[in-house]
Amino acid sequence: MTTTVNSTQKWTQLNIDQKIGLVPTMGALHQGHMSLIHQSKKENDITVVSIFVNPTQFNKKQDLKSYPKDLERDLALLCKAKVDYLFAPDYDALYPYNYRYKVSDCKMAKILCGANRPGHFDGVLSVVMKLLNIIKPTNAYFGEKDYQQYILIKDMVQAFFMDVNIIPCPTVREVSGLAMSSRNLLLTPEQLEVASSFYHHLKADASIEEIKTKLTEQGFVVDYIEEHFGRRFGAIHYANVRLIDNVEV
Ligand code: AMP
Repeated sequence: MTTTVNSTQKWTQLNIDQKIGLVPTMGALHQGHMSLIHQSKKENDITVVSIFVNPTQFNKKQDLKSYPKDLERDLALLCKAKVDYLFAPDYDALYPYNYRYKVSDCKMAKILCGANRPGHFDGVLSVVMKLLNIIKPTNAYFGEKDYQQYILIKDMVQAFFMDVNIIPCPTVREVSGLAMSSRNLLLTPEQLEVASSFYHHLKADASIEEIKTKLTEQGFVVDYIEEHFGRRFGAIHYANVRLIDNVEV
């Protein structure tokens, strides 16, 4: 595990002729993250994972404070998966100029998760650009669970002529259908069972209004249910936890 940008850049230089796969994460790893790692291991010589809970993408202090962290468990999972390199910097290492410079999308970052989370995607795009510049991977892996994020990153890389392939990976779900998420750790087993109906309502053959009504009746606070790019996207609040998901329609 390395925490400094300098030593990571030196390591990148040493491995310049290797095919590097990068899997950026915020830790509290689960099988969703591990599926990205397995895909990277199949398609690259070296797999790098980053763990960094990025404060600039949190628009609520409490959300950042309560975000699950378990570095020891993460390390054990990464060792077991034979990940080659873990980059786990702190804020000062990744933001030497604090948040003076940022990457903004003026269009797609304003809808869906961007509409009620001002600045969220600026934070995401800024930190991903930093990670890509430091690690210089051939391929970088992102989950379709965060589909809007994947599209924004793919577009940013093209807009800035960055030499990296952005690879989407399918959403991994619990047996109940609930999309795996680090935030699920904040729910009790009973709450997880209730939360699993989010996915089933989202993929039901019903109108958006009907889905919203059903979710509200079940005690969820709906942020949005919307359709874009042949997908139905949803975000809800339940037991003080924000859950997102999307399905093909
Ligand atoms: P996070 O740690 O939540 O920022 O996620 C790191 C990466 O893992 C992102 O590219 C996510 O889209 C991806 N990811 C998170 N949960 C899942 C999941 N259930 N299935 C597939 N990918 C996921």
